[in-house]
Amino acid sequence: MNTSGDVKIEVEGDREALDKFVTELETMAPPLARIEGITAVEATVKGYNQFEIRHSLAEEGKYQLVSPDIATCEACKRELLSPEDRRYRYPFTNCTNCGPRFTIIEDIPYDRPKTTMRCFKMCPECQREYDDPLDRRFHAQPNACPKCGPSLSLVNGSGETIACPDVIAEASKLLKEGKILAIKGLGGFHLACDATNAGAIQTLRDRKRRPYKPLAIMLATVEEIKEHCFVSEEEEKLLASPECPILLLRWKEDSSVSCKVAPELKHLGVMLPYTPLHHVLLRETGMPLVMTSGNISEEPIAKDNDEAIRRLKGIADFFVVHNRDIYARYDDSLAIVEKGKPQLVRRARGYAPYPIHLPFRAKEILACGAELKNTFCVTKEDHAFISQHIGDMENLETLEHFENTIELYLKLFRIKPRILAYDLHPEYLSTKYAKERADEFTLVPVQHHHAHIVSCMVENGVQEPVIGVAFDGTGYGSDGTIWGGEFLIADYRGFERVGHLEYVPLLGGAAAIERPYRMAFSYLYTLLGEGILDCELPFLRDIDQHEKEVMKRQLEKGINCPLTSSCGRLFDGISALLGIRGTVDYEAQAAIELEMAAPDDFQGTDSYPFSIAEQDGVKIVKLSELFQAVIHDVENRLSIGTISAKFHRTIAQIAAEMCQRIAAERGIRKVALSGGVFQNRLLLRLTADLLEREGFAVLTHSLVPTNDGGISLGQATIANFSFSD
Ligand code: ZN
Ligand code: ZN
Ligand code: FE
Repeated sequence: MNTSGDVKIEVEGDREALDKFVTELETMAPPLARIEGITAVEATVKGYNQFEIRHSLAEEGKYQLVSPDIATCEACKRELLSPEDRRYRYPFTNCTNCGPRFTIIEDIPYDRPKTTMRCFKMCPECQREYDDPLDRRFHAQPNACPKCGPSLSLVNGSGETIACPDVIAEASKLLKEGKILAIKGLGGFHLACDATNAGAIQTLRDRKRRPYKPLAIMLATVEEIKEHCFVSEEEEKLLASPECPILLLRWKEDSSVSCKVAPELKHLGVMLPYTPLHHVLLRETGMPLVMTSGNISEEPIAKDNDEAIRRLKGIADFFVVHNRDIYARYDDSLAIVEKGKPQLVRRARGYAPYPIHLPFRAKEILACGAELKNTFCVTKEDHAFISQHIGDMENLETLEHFENTIELYLKLFRIKPRILAYDLHPEYLSTKYAKERADEFTLVPVQHHHAHIVSCMVENGVQEPVIGVAFDGTGYGSDGTIWGGEFLIADYRGFERVGHLEYVPLLGGAAAIERPYRMAFSYLYTLLGEGILDCELPFLRDIDQHEKEVMKRQLEKGINCPLTSSCGRLFDGISALLGIRGTVDYEAQAAIELEMAAPDDFQGTDSYPFSIAEQDGVKIVKLSELFQAVIHDVENRLSIGTISAKFHRTIAQIAAEMCQRIAAERGIRKVALSGGVFQNRLLLRLTADLLEREGFAVLTHSLVPTNDGGISLGQATIANFSFSD
């Protein structure tokens, strides 16, 4: 019997048979079963003569885990592609081993009436499968077929439904013609077009107002992916896993995928089809398709038909919609494999809402996360439910998505938190959300980088103090400055800031983030003095005289120049100084292109000088020698790739040297690496290798993002330990 808490099974027999039953419950469980634990108790014999499955029972306060949506399984794929099967080309084929779960469930226990499938009545044949314990579709709640289930329709750019006997065939014809289609998937709409057609992609970019941001693509099979990208064994395993994330893969030079898909980048975001609709469409279209989230710039992904047509009108030429409603917005997950280990960059489809297991028992807490790449986290017992990727909390649509999703999680997992954790940054929408609820909750403010480090510790099951290296874009510091190049001694209860990169003015505040050349200007002026601005650096020549004067005045007088120790800004500044990228279209673009500039086969061991000063017991990394040396290399026309490689190595050496000094004083040999800058694979590899070679135990992220998507887990943990009992 299924209950809202657990599954209760009553079996009778001799001791040996019962023991075997308990063992096989675990060893022979179906592929998607997650057994959290088995408790066996003796009961009085009732004399059962058959195995019977009773109706689900809702129990007050009890909860169970909810499965993420799972990519189409092999058996369903076979049926889908066999002309003689009754589900041939049927875009909603699924079974107990695959298909939608989280995106269609409104409450637990997970039964059809509590999902958006409730309005489809199963035909006799589907019902027979559903009722048969030996069938692959036994109790598959979204079970459906062409006779009784959801169906597709085609809508034109002005929102009118077009009569069309075969929507997939028509859609694939339109894609081949270079049209842009909005296609309803599991957790929202994708915008799709031919990934080999530069013109179609340019049109999509113009309409989406996204000149550079890399777009994900979908290919029919792993073999096809290998025509365009290098795929390692671990990468292949992850690509074809039931979670089926987008994976960043090394792009081949001779790939026919247009360079407009990911301008200036060496990696391509690639995924396999994960719904029956995708499988059929990709095979019939016969080419790689761009599959990017259906939104305008930073708004959340569109999920309802009307909403999609309203918001994506003017971007999509046609809409492929269907009549199975999406209850929860759910983006594609994005991952990389580094040092043989998967690392999630965006955690959503296939992963959320499965919990992270905590190395302690938690109070019921809601942690609001950060601003960019927001996730929230709710805890109960030894579970941390990190939400799916919510998005950048910069507009009301995303805030609404955040609030609705919190409500859903609290309902699904029967959590009534009284404690609310939030970031110190006063301007975050998530902080404002928290402060508005001061009457109902005990509020716990958490410093951003402390949360980063603790999130990495929790994921690795580590509780004792570590040296935390938080290399990040921006985070509000306890002293009101903007942190981001931090060395902390941290545990769940607190932290001490034992070192950081030296402060420089963030020239013009947010403007310095969008225009990295302002950062470069600030570093030069602050570290090397006004005179350096007269030297013949190409990037300085590109800034107009008037703006230079304004910037100088701002720096002299400290107008709109908050201080920052950010490592992300240091990467931005170097990128602009080298003339790689002076203004950005998407977050961290300048830093990413700086990473891309470093050659893979760089053999040299050179790096740049730096020094460490001691100020009131805090170690400050001084950067003037580094900038002096970089300028020297630029003037001597050393290649940008070599400078980039030397710079990356220097940052790794800074981390290692700081950790050595801290370890010598404190006796801690465990280092946690966290923060958005560690999405830089080259830097992560160099830093982790160097630290390991020097005998440190190094903790890195895997299931929890190293970027701000991981903040909520750290916040929840720190809030849990902020009460002494
Ligand atoms: Zn299946
Ligand atoms: Zn049916
Ligand atoms: Fe951060």
